[in-house]
This record gives sequence, structure tokens and C-alpha cells, in this order.
Amino acid sequence: MSSTRRISQRVGSIAPSATLAVTNKANELKAAGESVIGFGAGEPDFATPDYIVEAAVEATRDPKNHRYSPAGGLPELKAAIAHKTKRDSNYDIDPAQVLVTNGGKHAVYNAFAGLLDPGDEVIIPAPFWTTYPEPVRLSGGVPVAVDTSLASGFRVTVDQLEAARTERTKALIFVSPSNPSGAVYPRDEIEAIGRWAAEHGIWVVTDEIYEHLVYDDVEFHSMPALVPEIADRCIVLNGVAKTYAMTGWRVGWLIAPADFTKAVASLQSHQTSNVNNVAQRATIVALEGSLDAVAEMRTAFDRRRKVMYEMLSSMNGVEVLRPEGAFYAFPSFEALIGTSIGGTVLSSTNDIATVALEQAKVAFVPGEAFGTPGYARFSFALGDDDLQEGLTRLGELLAQAK
Ligand code: PMP
Repeated sequence: MSSTRRISQRVGSIAPSATLAVTNKANELKAAGESVIGFGAGEPDFATPDYIVEAAVEATRDPKNHRYSPAGGLPELKAAIAHKTKRDSNYDIDPAQVLVTNGGKHAVYNAFAGLLDPGDEVIIPAPFWTTYPEPVRLSGGVPVAVDTSLASGFRVTVDQLEAARTERTKALIFVSPSNPSGAVYPRDEIEAIGRWAAEHGIWVVTDEIYEHLVYDDVEFHSMPALVPEIADRCIVLNGVAKTYAMTGWRVGWLIAPADFTKAVASLQSHQTSNVNNVAQRATIVALEGSLDAVAEMRTAFDRRRKVMYEMLSSMNGVEVLRPEGAFYAFPSFEALIGTSIGGTVLSSTNDIATVALEQAKVAFVPGEAFGTPGYARFSFALGDDDLQEGLTRLGELLAQAK
């Protein structure tokens, strides 16, 4: 008999993206005329720099871009990515190691599709970006979360990783600067984790999409550049979304050993074919140009980061670390769990987020979405006035918690 299931088990079990859900809910309320302030956004609030947009306009007029191109990416773009990787990460790669994907998310998906057999385990330090566990599961893998907390600066230790390691551990996902915690690993910790992975033959999938967004004197380091021994089992994920305010253009990439890249390029040839040529051409210009635009955005993010940190720190029941990278703060609301506001009991961060949206018209993503209940993610990629106003409203609301 044929299956009565309308939707496959594999796809039916996927959780929707919680971060997009919060943004959508906030947008719905805004459309209904409410003055909602959203801290959910995972994208810069700036326009893509003009010279990149101009390159796209020009590319649109060139008939060669109206045709299919190699599924794995334009050769000129792969070369630009290799060059940029050396410039920014001091990591020497060959263009043959690059696969150009439809945004960073697609690179995450194809990395795990290429890596995992049923039952293979992937260690994912929590809090984690919501888009890691689902592609792992879809590829038959088993996500193994390892908890971190505010007390450990949201950084995982080699001892914790070792405790989570089993015979089935295939890979570790490593993200620095981190979404959602804003943590950045120092050089010695990256080296220690890289050496641990190399020693046990564990693949490292390292997501470097926030590489240029680090603050104060904090530095970004690329794990395979620091620990060359892992290069043969390392996949670097990256893209233009955050660095050049290009989230909507959908260009990302992965860098992997050439045999791996060749295999996942075959997958992609049946899946999406090439990424939009116009967006790829614009990306070449972005990567070959200067980093001035991201420096400007960083200055604005840094200013907002400081305001957010000060304001969250002073709220009733909130504890927060100063974010060192990306554009997120990840405060703890644990002291508020069990209290109530106007008769509503707050028994989880989901509840706090709901009350904040309903009563203060402030939207943020509760930690449940990132595997870390008790916390929440606040993006500081929004305008200065909104940021101030939203946090003022939240502070006033939380002051009522008893
Ligand atoms: N990695 C991380 C850690 C992210 O936060 C994001 C965007 N939220 C991405 C990758 C992917 O970005 P995109 O698909 O827009 O390129």
C-alpha cells in the first residue's frame, strides 16, 4: 500500500526558522499600525555600497550573464575568494577548493549533505545558530549540543568537547564571531580546539561569516590558518551577506578539500545549478574592493553595541556580557523566570518574549530557538533611535516583574 503520509517524515519534522518567525511577527504587527521595535534582525540595516550595486547593473546588461554558468561558481569569483581568503585569513587555498552557493545557508546545507552518513554525530556548541541542527538532521546526522553559558563567555572548552566525543563524532561546528552569543574565541583557544580535532580526525566546519565584525582590540582568527593540520578535514563557510550588507543577494561559499568540493559541486549541479550570475559578478567587485564600507558599518554597530550593553546591564533581572563580535547581545533573563508581570507568570524566555511583544511592542528571539533557554538574542543591527527606544520600553516593562 502506498504511504498515507502527505509530507515526508524528513521534511515534516523540520522546525521553522525561529529567527525569521520573530521578524515576521514583528512585521505583521507593524503592518497593522503598531509601533513595534524589532531586535530580531540578523542583517545589517545599511544599503549595499553603491559601487557593488553599479557592478550588478552593468552585469545585467551583459548577455553572457544571461546564460547558465558553471554550477560551482564563476571561475573569476572562485579566484577572488581564494585571494580574499589569503588577504583576510592568511589561509592559502586553491580556487578548486571553492564552491559558490546561494548564500551562507546553502553552504551549511551542502557541507553537511556532503559530510554525513546516517548516525554520524556533529558537535554543536550551544547557543547555536538555528540553521545548524536542521541540515544536520536532514542529512541523517545527529546534532550533539554542548552547553556554554555566560559564565564561560559562551565559549566551549576542549574538555567539554572531549566529553561529548564518541566513536560516531564526525564533525564539530565552530563559529567565531558567534551568532547568537557575540562571543569571539581568542587565538590560543582556537588553536587548542583545532589540535583536538586534528588529533581525533574530526572535521571542523568553521563559519566565518562575521569575520570583519569584531570590536575593541579583539581579533578574528581562522582555524585552518592557525592549525594547518586540520585543513584536510576542514570546511570554511562564508559569504558577503554581513560584510557588505548583501543579505538579499544570496551569495555565499564553502572552502573544503578539493575532492569534497568536487563532490558537493555535483550535488549542486542537480540542485540549484549556478548562483545568479549578476549577484556573482557583484560579489567579485565586493571582494576585490576595499573593506572601507564594512569599517563604517562596524563603527555604527560598535556605538550601538555599547548603548545596548549599558542599557541591558541596568535592567531588572538581566545579566549580559559585552559582545565582542557580530551584532548580537545574548543576555540572561534567568533571574526573571518564575516572576510575573501584571499577573502573567514568566515561566520561560518564550513567555518573556511574548509579554515583551504584546505589552512593550518589542521583539527579540528567545534563547529556546538557539538551544539555550533562559537567554535571548538581541540584534544591534538597527537604527540608534529605535534601539534606544526599544530598550527603554523593555527596561520599563521588566521593572514591573515581581
Ligand atoms: N552563518 C551565520 C552564523 C549566520 O548568522 C548567517 C546569517 N544569519 C549565515 C551563516 C548565512 O547567511 P546568508 O545565508 O544570508 O548568507
